[in-house]
Amino acid sequence: MRKISASYIFPIHRQPVKNGVLTIDDEGKIVELSTYSETETCSDIEFYDGIICPGFINAHCHLELSHLKNTIPKHTGIAGFITEISKRRNLADRLEQIKSAKFYDNFMYLQGIVAVGDISNSDLTFELKKQSKIFYHTFVEAFSCNESETDTILQKNQNTVDLGRRLGISISPTLHAPYSMCDRLFAEIKRRAEKYGIISYHNQETQAENEYFENNSGDFLRYYKQSTTPDKPSPTGKSSIHRLLDDIDKNIKILLVHNTFTSENDYDFAMSANKNITWTLCPQSNLYIENHLPPIEMLRRKNAKIATGTDSLSSNTNLSIIEELLTISDNFKNIELNELLTWATVNSAEALGIADKFGTFEQGKIPGIVLIDNVDTNKMMLTKKSHSKIL
Ligand SMILES: [Zn+2]
Repeated sequence: MRKISASYIFPIHRQPVKNGVLTIDDEGKIVELSTYSETETCSDIEFYDGIICPGFINAHCHLELSHLKNTIPKHTGIAGFITEISKRRNLADRLEQIKSAKFYDNFMYLQGIVAVGDISNSDLTFELKKQSKIFYHTFVEAFSCNESETDTILQKNQNTVDLGRRLGISISPTLHAPYSMCDRLFAEIKRRAEKYGIISYHNQETQAENEYFENNSGDFLRYYKQSTTPDKPSPTGKSSIHRLLDDIDKNIKILLVHNTFTSENDYDFAMSANKNITWTLCPQSNLYIENHLPPIEMLRRKNAKIATGTDSLSSNTNLSIIEELLTISDNFKNIELNELLTWATVNSAEALGIADKFGTFEQGKIPGIVLIDNVDTNKMMLTKKSHSKIL
């Protein structure tokens, strides 16, 4: 048994508790959350300076791209980013790539991240995920705008999912983005992902994808013409969010990732198509690639379910949820800390279907325990000096 106390405990499923005492058993299971009283013997209580909350969930990451840290220039826009990443992704050999992924797996854990929704294009990270202290759900992602490759890519995607299942990791197929998949591959992977009941999908990360699908114009049309891509996706006359959500299973879980150029009309349409959408934000990646932030005020006004992720080190300087929250609170100063922490914990856990174990300090869960220091507890705000660590 451990008893842990701090200035405030944020259980997330209810209001923060001043001078709370959290009791956990030897496996980390929550036994009780009480309040410290002067009469209580304190010799067996660990006191910390700061606030305590459940373990962070990184709802969107690409661990296998960790070796690309500091290699891709900022503010290239998505079309430029894709060109850069395809040039550089395999410059390092497999062992080097695994070494970087292992380092950042441990780094994320030390920062307080206990579960990750991770995009994989290969089996590179599967062995380390089996050993990791972090719980991963792996989305095996497919993309290609070359129709003649479709059968090969479908088979590779299936083989990778099957391998993950044999290794005992949590895994399912998913689609990359509206602009990166020809029509047959898109339809087939969508059908397969629906069977698993969960999709993670890069949505409206750039205005160019709306321009392409609505008007058959803009940066993507230029990109398709310049590249060797023979089979560009068919424009729909509607914003790009429709490509996934027109005719989607209403009941599956969907993580829409980025949403940097999502309008209120897009939001209303999306919620009429599926009620289980989590609006997954990766603000540091958006600033890195497009230098633009998602419409957080609109999403909050609409009562959207918001989660947070880091994206990959090809478009971020770190894999740290506290840094993502700091970036949000720097730019949107009116968001209360409890709300930000809700995005980073229980909302992300629910999005990934793991809220029975993670996300709050409810009795019986094993959510991990995070200490955040240098919090302004008068204003209940993070400060530039706030750090997080696993306890
Ligand atoms: Zn991503």
